[in-house]
Amino acid sequence: DPLPDKAAAKEFYARYEPKEVLGKGVSSTVRKCIEKESGKEFAAKIIDLTGADARESETLREATLREIEILRIVAGHPYIIELHDVFESDTFIFLVFELCKNGELFDYLTSVVTLSEKKTKYIMRQLLDALEYVHSKHIVHRDVKPENVLLDDNFNVKLTDFGFARVLQPGERLYELCGTPGYLAPELLKCNISESSLGYGMEVDIWACGVIMYTLLVGCPPFWHRKQMIMLRNIMEGKYSFTSPEWDDITDSPKDLIHRILVTDPERRITVREALHHPFFQIMHYQGKKFD
Ligand code: ADP
Ligand code: MG
Repeated sequence: DPLPDKAAAKEFYARYEPKEVLGKGVSSTVRKCIEKESGKEFAAKIIDLTGADARESETLREATLREIEILRIVAGHPYIIELHDVFESDTFIFLVFELCKNGELFDYLTSVVTLSEKKTKYIMRQLLDALEYVHSKHIVHRDVKPENVLLDDNFNVKLTDFGFARVLQPGERLYELCGTPGYLAPELLKCNISESSLGYGMEVDIWACGVIMYTLLVGCPPFWHRKQMIMLRNIMEGKYSFTSPEWDDITDSPKDLIHRILVTDPERRITVREALHHPFFQIMHYQGKKFD
C-alpha cells in the first residue's frame, strides 16, 4: 500500500535519482529515474497535487488512486506497463513504472511514417492481447492511442496511462465524454447529443485500435479533417475510406479487419477477442517472433 505520510516525497528522492523528462501531461511529469540501490532505470510519473484549489487537488488524488488500483488489477501481463512502486504525500504522488526505452508508438510511427503489414501485425496483436486482458477484468481503458502505447527495449508493446480507465459493474454503461478526439468511438460522441443514448462500454477500446491500425499502415488517421467538427461528424457517420494511392499495395486481410472494427454500431463491431482470431493474425509470413 502507498505510504500515506508527508515524508513520501523525501522517501522517493532518497531511493531514486531523478533524470531527464520523458513526457508531460496537464498535471503530471514523467521522468526517467535510477533506483539507487539496484542501479536500475525506471520511469516516475510525478503527480503534482498543489497549484489547484483544495477540491481540484482532492479530485486529482482520487483519480490517481483509482489509476493505481486499476494498474494493480491488470498487473502481471507481458504487454501492460508494470507499476514498480508508489509514494503518496499531501502534495505529490509518485508512480514508479518499468522504463520503456523505446518510448511512444506515436514517436516511433512519426519517425518511420508507416509500418509494414508485418510490423503492424506484431504491434496490433500485442496491443489487442493487452486489451483482451484488461477487458477480462471488466475494465475499459478509454484512452487507447499511440501516445499511450509504449515500446520496451525489444519493441514489445506496453499499454499504459490508465488515468481514464474504469471498472464496469455487470451491465453498467458509461456516459462521460473523455478520451482523445481522433480516437473517440461514435457511441461515446453520440451519448452526449442524443437523449435516447444507451451510453457506451468496452467497445470504445477496440474502435480506438481500429483507428490506430489504419494509421500505422498508411501514416494518416481515417477520420482526420482540419476542422474538428467535421472530423467528429465523420466519426459518428463512420465515414472513412481506403484512399488511393496509400492503400493500393495493402492486402485485403488488414482492410477486412479494419472494416469489422470501424463499425459505428457497437453491437455489430468485432470484439477484441474476435479480432485476435481474425485471419490477419493467423497468416504467418515470417519465421521468428522478433521485430526487425
Ligand atoms: P498522462 O496521463 O499525462 O498522459 P502518461 O502515463 O500517458 O501520462 O505518461 C505521459 C508520457 O510519458 C507518455 O506518453 C510517455 O511519453 C511517457 N512515459 C510514461 N510512462 C513511461 C514509461 N514507463 N517509460 C517511458 N516513457 C513513459
Ligand atoms: Mg497519456
